[in-house]
Amino acid sequence: MKICIIGAGYVGLVSGACFADLGNNVVCVDNNAEKINRLKAGAIPIYEPGLEELVKRNRKEGRLSFSTSVKEGVKTCEVIFIAVGTPSRDGGDADLTFVEHVSREIAQAMPSYRLIVEKSTVPVNTGEWVEHTIKVFNKRGIKFDVASNPEFLREGSAIKDFMNPDRIVIGVKSKKAKDILTELYKPLKAPIVVTDIKSAEIIKHASNSFLATKISFINAISDICDKVGADIVEVARGIGLDRRIGKEFLNAGIGFGGSCFPKDLSAFIRIADKIGYDFGMLKEVQKVNDYQKALLIKKIEALVWNLPKKTIGVLGLSFKPDTDDIRQSPALDIITMLQKEGAKIKVYDPQAMGRAKLELSKNTEFCKDAYAVAKNSDCLLLATEWNEFKELDFKKIKKIMRQPILIDGRNIYDPEEMKKLGFTYIGIGRK
Ligand code: NAD
Repeated sequence: MKICIIGAGYVGLVSGACFADLGNNVVCVDNNAEKINRLKAGAIPIYEPGLEELVKRNRKEGRLSFSTSVKEGVKTCEVIFIAVGTPSRDGGDADLTFVEHVSREIAQAMPSYRLIVEKSTVPVNTGEWVEHTIKVFNKRGIKFDVASNPEFLREGSAIKDFMNPDRIVIGVKSKKAKDILTELYKPLKAPIVVTDIKSAEIIKHASNSFLATKISFINAISDICDKVGADIVEVARGIGLDRRIGKEFLNAGIGFGGSCFPKDLSAFIRIADKIGYDFGMLKEVQKVNDYQKALLIKKIEALVWNLPKKTIGVLGLSFKPDTDDIRQSPALDIITMLQKEGAKIKVYDPQAMGRAKLELSKNTEFCKDAYAVAKNSDCLLLATEWNEFKELDFKKIKKIMRQPILIDGRNIYDPEEMKKLGFTYIGIGRK
């Protein structure tokens, strides 16, 4: 099939490269000319394992190309995916101006029937607005369909997730749209949930909200463990082996972040509010997540005494390992909170330093590796569980720190081992 993907970000670029790898002809369009120029020159603007090779291979085979022109993409492709950003507005609503803009551009460029697919995460009823906008701006009355096909890939394992999804959700109004999308996804051999557009939109928001709820739930339990001297890792194992609950997403930590959970939670709360449902449960999930970060500051303060002028070393900046994405990363929030209290911050991340330099205060010291971070620090905080942080030489780290205080924000170290090495070790809900 000939496919146009509008928005060549984490989702658009990965989806485009994967669709091309499945044998389709794909053009990825983005209005960021610099991004497109870099892609045309063979550079990948984001860090995502395996993406560079996938893009290279499919460009070489002539199945994947890049453009800044929506018009050009829409002219040649029958299936158009909208994969632009849907960030949070100030009050928490999803900002749908990019989706609206692109819908109008598609409408004006359509030469004949087109299937327009929402891939971006959008609140329920957005499909109706997209359809309405295309009807209004498609002056020649050309036939089209709108569909919803939310994406569930995770940054860091995006290609694997796209190629081996647990399920594919397709929200459609017509048989033609259903047939096109079912055919497109046939090679993936995953269960396809065909539904109406509104249900598909809700599936995405509900899935992310449920996952965020699971994280806040285990974080709340971890605080109870802290208070009574129980161990959250054992508690989580005991809970998670119940198949009705499942062990995924039961790792206590410094809170969730990233470009999806915080924004999708807010957007779901806001859309629920607008249609007359007060989603208090999800507001509590947000509250627990914020509290988790505030609690961490208190833990650090309790160990180093006064924060002003203390040096806190932070390992990891991205919101999760294997990505350079720092959007809503809890590490960055915690760093900013510590800096407000007067602490000096040293940081290192294997992939996210470039992006973080644009976001963090000028006073932040960016180091070449974890050991440079640890040197003369009063406290070391593991914020993102990159694999390389699991393999550190802690004997060496203990020697070069000013005070051997280790805060394990992701519970990746063995508390007993760290205590034996002479660290004051604090995990999240660990004995
Ligand atoms: P992103 O910011 O990485 O990419 C969005 C791209 O859209 C940018 O490159 C931007 O330049 C481009 N864009 C914006 N307006 C445009 C326009 N008018 N014309 C052409 N291009 C335009 O965002 P992302 O992380 O890829 O997320 C995209 C959507 O997918 C969001 O709705 C997000 O919630 C959803 N989603 C993201 C993930 C994830 O892990 N990142 C997973 C599932 C779903």
